[in-house]
Amino acid sequence: MNDIALKDRKVLLEIADLRVHFDIKEGKQWFWQPKKSLKAVDGVSLRLYEGETLGVVGESGCGKSTLARAIIGLVKAKGGRVTWLGRDLLGQDDKAWRDARTDIQMIFQDPLASLNPRMTVGDIIAEPLKTYYPKMAKREVSEKVRAMMMKVGLLPNLINRYPHEFSGGQCQRIGIARALILEPKLVICDEPVSALDVSIQAQVVNLLQKLQREMGLSLIFIAHDLAVVKHISDRVLVMYLGHAVELGTYDQVYHQPLHPYTQALMSAVPIPDPDKELTKQVQLLEGELPSPIDPPSGCVFRTRCPQAVAECAKTKPVLEGNFSHAVSCLKVDPL
Ligand code: SF4
Repeated sequence: MNDIALKDRKVLLEIADLRVHFDIKEGKQWFWQPKKSLKAVDGVSLRLYEGETLGVVGESGCGKSTLARAIIGLVKAKGGRVTWLGRDLLGQDDKAWRDARTDIQMIFQDPLASLNPRMTVGDIIAEPLKTYYPKMAKREVSEKVRAMMMKVGLLPNLINRYPHEFSGGQCQRIGIARALILEPKLVICDEPVSALDVSIQAQVVNLLQKLQREMGLSLIFIAHDLAVVKHISDRVLVMYLGHAVELGTYDQVYHQPLHPYTQALMSAVPIPDPDKELTKQVQLLEGELPSPIDPPSGCVFRTRCPQAVAECAKTKPVLEGNFSHAVSCLKVDPL
C-alpha cells in the first residue's frame, strides 16, 4: 500500500506520549530514598491506520512487547493516551477494555506455551466466543470454529485434538484462529514467528497477509528479524530503550535511515546478493544497551552513538517529521 493511500484512511489507534514504568524494589527501601522505576516505554506516540501493517523493531529490552501489552491493556500505563476509534482507553474501567478486546486481539511468541494443554483445539479457538457471546448456540460456535480452522489452514476434523499433537507452525495457526474468531479490527503479533523454523516462518507470515486481505485487518507486527518486518510492513517503528527513534514507510526506514541506531540496524540486514553481502559495511554498535532503570541523560542513544556531540547529553530529542518519515535526533533537521 502506498503512503498516500494509507494516509487517507481512517485512524484506528492513536497513542500519545505513552509511558509504562515499573516500580523497582532493591533491598530495603527507606522512605527518604527516591523510588526507582524501570522505564520500559517512555513517551511513545504514533497513529495506526485502517488496513495498515506497522512493523516494530529494536533490540531485546527496547520496549516492543511492553508497548504491545500496554495497547491491549495487559500492562498498566503510567501516563499518556491510548485512543481506540476516538475513545481514550487509559483510565477507563474494565468493561471498556473488555469491549475494546473484541476489536483488538493478540498473537503470542511461543505458540505451544500460549495454548492451554488441557483444552482441545476446538475449545481453545471457541474460548473468546464463549466469553463474549455466552448465549451463542453450541452448534453456531462449532460452525464458526470449523470455518476459522479452514481459514487458517487446519483441517476441521482435528477439532478434538490437543495442542501437544501439533507442530509449532500448526500451534501458531491455532493461536491465529483464536485471535481472529471474534473478527477483530487490529491484531498485535508479538514476535509470532521467532520460535519457528525459517521455512515455517514464511508460511505463517504469508498466512497473516492473506487473512489481512480477506478480513481487512490492521496489524502491529513485532519482530527482531528485520527481513521479516520488511516483507510484511507498510511502515516501520524503530525503538531503542523505550523510545521511538524513527518511524516511516519501510522504503524510507530501510533505504534512507536517518537515525544512527537505525543505520546500524539496517547495515546488518542480509542482502540477497552474495557479492554485495560480502562487501557491505556493517556498522557495529559499541557497548551494551544501558539500563532502563537509569537511562542516559539527554538522548538515550548517546552512550553508543558514533555521532554524539556534547549537546546530546543535555537535550532530549523528540520524534519530528511527517507521515512518511519522522526521526528523533538532534543532528537531523525535522523533515
Ligand atoms: S541526538 Fe545525538 S546521540 Fe542521539 S542519535 Fe542524534 S547524534 Fe546520536
